[in-house]
Amino acid sequence: MRKYVIMGVQGSGKGTQSALLAGDLDLTHISVGDIFRWHVKNHTKLGAQVRRLVAAGELVGDDLVESVVRDRLQLHDWNFGFVIDGFPRNRRQAEFFLESYDIDGVIHLDLPDDEVRRRVLARRLCSRCGMDYNLIAHRPEVEGRCDVCGGELVTRADDTPDALARRLRDYHDKTDPVLELFRRKEYVMTVDARADKTTVQQAIRTRFNLPPYEPPPATD
Ligand code: AMP
Repeated sequence: MRKYVIMGVQGSGKGTQSALLAGDLDLTHISVGDIFRWHVKNHTKLGAQVRRLVAAGELVGDDLVESVVRDRLQLHDWNFGFVIDGFPRNRRQAEFFLESYDIDGVIHLDLPDDEVRRRVLARRLCSRCGMDYNLIAHRPEVEGRCDVCGGELVTRADDTPDALARRLRDYHDKTDPVLELFRRKEYVMTVDARADKTTVQQAIRTRFNLPPYEPPPATD
């Protein structure tokens, strides 16, 4: 059983790297942001509670976040372990997490703020199937349309310059101290997130003594 936390500023590739790691190692990828976005999209009661905060890129209250994480982990659909992404984001959440779960390591994707701005403001999402695009690194074949399902590509409501500035400030004020707390427990492996996604994934696996990543064969 392997249990990891993946941390890094917005746009550092947490979602992509978690998915690559989870794939062949049979880990469950738990993204707290995705859980909230699902509730907003499906108009649930929880969605109504968090809609405004998620759209503005502001943090949801700790009690609510902790109960979502607790409920999600209680599903126990993670026989081989999990990679949790987007949590913990402040000291209180980190203390809650460490009291309840033991973890094998923290993957810290390190990316300078300038590069974060460049990447995040180019990010697009399919409004139908949720596939991620990036106008710099992963352009759709037809502008504004998803390659997989043809859905319309949209910008996440929290990927605007104002919301991004707020999220970066929150990250440095509240989440940097979490890294410090984990570092004191020697859990943290910092990886340079500026490289391409395969290189970053290999670096994570080398640092944690995991089987090497085998990228799928090119299709064209
Ligand atoms: P993310 O996709 O991780 O950037 O999360 C999207 C949004 O969900 C954030 O801007 C917050 O509104 C909310 N959120 C996700 N994780 C947390 C967390 N650990 N604490 C508070 N709010 C969170």
